[in-house]
Amino acid sequence: IITLAIESSCDETSVSVLKNGRTVLSNIIASQIEQHQKFGGVVPEVASRQHIESINTVIKEALEEANVTFEDITHVAATYGPGLVGALLVGLSAAKAIAFARGIPLNGVNHIEGHIYANFIQHKELEPPFICLIVSGGHSHLVYMKDYGEYEVLGKTRDDAAGEAFDKIARVLGLGYPGGPQIDKLATKGNKRAIAFPKAYLERGSYDFSFSGLKSSVLNYLNTEKMKGNPIAIEDVAASFQQAVVEILVEKTIACAMEKSVKQITLAGGVAANSSLRGLLQQEAEKHGLSLKYPSLKLCTDNAAMIGCVGYYDYIRGYRSTLDLNGVPNLKIGERYSKYL
Ligand code: ATP
Ligand code: MG
Ligand code: FE
Repeated sequence: IITLAIESSCDETSVSVLKNGRTVLSNIIASQIEQHQKFGGVVPEVASRQHIESINTVIKEALEEANVTFEDITHVAATYGPGLVGALLVGLSAAKAIAFARGIPLNGVNHIEGHIYANFIQHKELEPPFICLIVSGGHSHLVYMKDYGEYEVLGKTRDDAAGEAFDKIARVLGLGYPGGPQIDKLATKGNKRAIAFPKAYLERGSYDFSFSGLKSSVLNYLNTEKMKGNPIAIEDVAASFQQAVVEILVEKTIACAMEKSVKQITLAGGVAANSSLRGLLQQEAEKHGLSLKYPSLKLCTDNAAMIGCVGYYDYIRGYRSTLDLNGVPNLKIGERYSKYL
């Protein structure tokens, strides 16, 4: 099965060609970061327009790099949610057009499942069950993946996503967008014990997250120090903030693995690129006899290869999307909206 996969849920136009779901023949990513940087975040209307301008070129590049033509493609996959509806529709419409013109099957894919499946592309031998910590720009989820397509959400954020918190703190520190990588870099120069920011554990036994309190306390700290006229060591703020986020994420992830008695943990989403999160989770996983796997940096952030991988496993399990499939901006993990066979 040769899958052509399209991702356009946010600010990356990406197209990938895959063989049997796990072998990536090409994975082209056209990022719009530059177009959005001057606004300090993703502007939905700008994103949709940019996807329209890029999509055909990116499809062409992906076919060329994979050394295939439309005639070789036997299956199409595209993200249909969650995401910005105008952005989603660009990739989804292109995918539908290809499926219709070529008379080949289409699978609509959940973007968040895509982030999990990036692990299957990176680690050819990886199989469920495992606990996956998904931490991206819009989501923070702890998921028990029992089998392909079978998920139990054990916890999620009640307010900001982890990546969102990184981006907001980076903005107040004047680090620019996207903030995660900048905080990660700056934190290596700071002292993670310099400032004791509060960690929200929530109720006993809860695997949910909350990052808004932490965000407020960073803001309060900065305002108070400024008012006192104290110099602010932003590398210490970055390191201490990052440490608070990472400690919470790691503790709850390990607790989930213990509760479900699984031996494997995976990381997914853009924040999975964070060096401190990878480091501490690796250390704690080893202590508890768990293996930790995460995707390469390129596969952590938005890309179409991970979408193609989900599409492939849905396809071989008998799912098909019909051509009236619509974009679903608030699609939940494990939820199936379209009419499937
Ligand atoms: P979603 O997948 O929830 O729809 P998204 O696709 O925008 O959101 P991703 O592309 O998965 O999110 O991840 C982007 C996020 O990852 C941004 O918030 C960014 O700041 C964060 N990020 C990227 N690299 C790092 C890093 N090294 N440390 C912390 N955060 C990071
Ligand atoms: Mg993005
Ligand atoms: Fe994403």
